[in-house]
Amino acid sequence: MHFSSLIDAVETPALVYDEGEVLRVLELAGSLQRETGCRMLYSVKPLPLPPLLELMNPWLSGFAVSSAFEARLARSVVGQSTSIHFTSPGIRPRDAFELADLCDYVSFNSLSQWNSVGSCFEGRASLGLRVNPGISFLDDERYDPCRENSKLGVPVDLLSGMDNLEGVVGGKLEGMLVHTNCESTDFLELLRTVDCLERKLPVLLEQASWINLGGGYLFPEGVALTPLRMAIEHLRGEYGLEVFLEPGAAYVRSAGHMVSTVLDIFDSGGKRVAVLDATVNHMTELLEFDFEPDVEGHREDGEWEYLLAGCTCLAGDVFGEYSFDRPMEAGDRVVFKNAGSYTLTKAHTFNGVNLPTLYSVSPEGELKLLREFDYEDYAARWKTNASHPY
Ligand SMILES: *Cc1c(COP(=O)(O)O)cnc(C)c1O
Repeated sequence: MHFSSLIDAVETPALVYDEGEVLRVLELAGSLQRETGCRMLYSVKPLPLPPLLELMNPWLSGFAVSSAFEARLARSVVGQSTSIHFTSPGIRPRDAFELADLCDYVSFNSLSQWNSVGSCFEGRASLGLRVNPGISFLDDERYDPCRENSKLGVPVDLLSGMDNLEGVVGGKLEGMLVHTNCESTDFLELLRTVDCLERKLPVLLEQASWINLGGGYLFPEGVALTPLRMAIEHLRGEYGLEVFLEPGAAYVRSAGHMVSTVLDIFDSGGKRVAVLDATVNHMTELLEFDFEPDVEGHREDGEWEYLLAGCTCLAGDVFGEYSFDRPMEAGDRVVFKNAGSYTLTKAHTFNGVNLPTLYSVSPEGELKLLREFDYEDYAARWKTNASHPY
């Protein structure tokens, strides 16, 4: 494949985006839109990288954001004609007017949020509520929006008892948003979510003009989309709703490769440790959620085993244990797969280790350097008003 031969050409550590893979998902999103009449958005949270937003813009119906900075960045890249959708559990009063200028659709996270800042948005954006159906699909409650006592969205049971919602929020309710999953490929779960809304909120579904089904689902090759099509077609057919979906990771996760170089190899207590020029701080979810990333060339029964370690002084800066068919040596490349989402957005420069250099590879196989971070970027973080010009 053209991609692997380009890996040798990059400066490491690097984050390399395969635009061909992003386009595969965009084409799928495009055909879903054509066939079902739904509207596909990109939730920029996993990676708000402007060249990718530009690549996506012609394929999609808009972008989803969760802060004033994300909204500003998305708007500055995609221009005025694309719709921007916003939801967040926290809106600072001083950001509300700016958000109202930037966003076309706003889903308030709670009734009290709507009551406190809603008037800033009225007449400027189409307003809705984030609803929490309370059906959990995830074992780890740290990324389960439907965990007990969740802060995300109005509990569906609270709303199902209300027949005059507009009286409660004091504004015109036009839509609702549900986002209940994470990295799922099982769209039956989405169908169950829609079924729950239908049982509990029939009046709201009748009143609303749009519904945003959130993100949290991936679109790998061969994924079964029938339940998704059914959910969309039902909501459109039965209630005349405009249906939005706002996946994030689905577009960029499999397209991103973290490329590193082996700096040193030594034995520690009977295990071979390979120190890389990368760090788990470039993929912080490894520590947060305690999982091991996919590594190119790893084979369960490989003869040569290595503990792949990051280069900071944190003892736990370790990617995991991997086996390969051949021995490794300093200078070799180690490539982490499926590293495109929630990596750069959460990466930091602990220990003064630089951020990965960003590249894209076009579908024609052209490698392009997008951004190299340097000492100036690092130092800018630490400049204070009292700084001397170091
Ligand atoms: C995070 C988030 C998304 C995107 O989630 P992915 O898991 O990246 O698809 C979409 N909508 C909302 C409300 C979110 O919080």
